[in-house]
Amino acid sequence: MKHRNWKKKKDATKRIAEERIEILLSLAEQTFKTDPEQSKRYIILAEAIGMRQNIRLNREQKRKYCKQCHTFRVPGKNCHIRLKNSVILTTCHVCGGMSRYPYYEKQNEIGANNEKFDKEMTRSNSKYEKGARHPK
Ligand SMILES: [Zn+2]
Repeated sequence: MKHRNWKKKKDATKRIAEERIEILLSLAEQTFKTDPEQSKRYIILAEAIGMRQNIRLNREQKRKYCKQCHTFRVPGKNCHIRLKNSVILTTCHVCGGMSRYPYYEKQNEIGANNEKFDKEMTRSNSKYEKGARHPK
């Protein structure tokens, strides 16, 4: 009985932490335009909570910001996205850091507002088709 209670409590703590992470990331999105530094702090805080509670951010959450400099990502504004050998390559314009994600066949996993992503990908794809061996 004692053990079960402990487990229940632990689950609740995790759930609250997950909610907090979600809230912090949406705050980061909201403040990005007006206060990028504050936005960064929200992301660092979200990461810290995840680390403390041993929670992994989900795929969508991880893609929302740059792992290296914690900048909230706005495709076409502070980062660009390329598709290379079924890997999504995101380059951050702030720190120049690159992140890789496997490209899933399910288009809707990339993001709800993926029109921009798709355009970017089509563009880089056609570049490869034209035979650009060293794209840059
Ligand atoms: Zn960065």
